[in-house]
Amino acid sequence: MINNLIKRKPYLIAGPCSAESEDQVINIAREIQGVADVFRAGIWKPRTHPNSFEGVGKKGLKWLYRIKQETSLKVATEVATPKHVEDCLKSEIDILWIGARTTVNPFYVQEIARALKGTNMPVFVKNPIHADLGLWIGAFERLNKSGLNNLSAIHRGFYSSQTSVFRNDPKWEMVIKLRKERKDIPIICDPSHIAGDSKLIEDISQMAMDINLDGLMIETHNDPSSAMSDNKQQITPELFKKIIKGLIIRDPKLNNDRFILELKNLRNKIDCFDSDIIELLKKRKDIVEEIGIFKKNNKLTIFQLERLYEILKTRTNQASKLGLDVEMIEEVFELIHKYSILNQTKIMTK
Ligand code: PEP
Ligand code: MN
Repeated sequence: MINNLIKRKPYLIAGPCSAESEDQVINIAREIQGVADVFRAGIWKPRTHPNSFEGVGKKGLKWLYRIKQETSLKVATEVATPKHVEDCLKSEIDILWIGARTTVNPFYVQEIARALKGTNMPVFVKNPIHADLGLWIGAFERLNKSGLNNLSAIHRGFYSSQTSVFRNDPKWEMVIKLRKERKDIPIICDPSHIAGDSKLIEDISQMAMDINLDGLMIETHNDPSSAMSDNKQQITPELFKKIIKGLIIRDPKLNNDRFILELKNLRNKIDCFDSDIIELLKKRKDIVEEIGIFKKNNKLTIFQLERLYEILKTRTNQASKLGLDVEMIEEVFELIHKYSILNQTKIMTK
């Protein structure tokens, strides 16, 4: 799991969203050295709107080089074009990252991979903006084919049209799938872009540790509220250090026999409940099929909107009384209903 670059866990990357001035980056770097492994700062910023601050550009690379000389930190920045890569190589930047808006485009990733060929530069690949695991894995494959093997993934959450407390939906299941597909690639969580709000950074960081991710990239700014980009989600170096100190790092392989036994007992209970759920779903399916035959014989339509509304309303009411997550129950019953309709359609068309 741990590659040539990432030798300890959690591997910590911190620094501002954007490099704004030489003093700013040097001061932040001095504050976080000793705790963080890598200093991050965007030099070229991919902004949604053209009139936003688009980064200080090439001159910021000299500031990063100074940090590398004057502190114990490695330095990292985002690249999106072969020219960015070329400038970073000239300035001896230690690590490059590919941003979420670039990972979505195989042409860009390929050009970056080509520009890096023969260097064995460590590269962090952020997940693509939308939840497409294939594109994320494809980016690693393109870099691998260019001989780059010091690769890590950065989980920064996924765009979602639904309103939520998060700026980007964490979709933790996506990281679990990535881990299954590419066991060799360390995964670093970026709680800042998931949260979009400095108050959520601590909880998301802990969650990342609880699911055994390898590190954290946290946007850290000397004066977050006046930051020129992402001002709501950045935290001060003091808060960064406090959050890191408070993290609970759990042992993924419980060595203590008593704990193993306790966990086994609890998992046995879950196994029994899951088996009950499946048996109930089978009984439910039998009734759904009976209703399907009834609808066919009486020339009724399969899909009855009021019935779906009634199911969702009663089930979510019950869930809410029991303190269950109402949205989860709504999703579960929408899915159950979808498959009931599919089963009845088969009966109708027989
Ligand atoms: C960033 O790290 O500042 C950034 C632009 O991130 P992302 O590509 O995840 O939006
Ligand atoms: Mn940012």
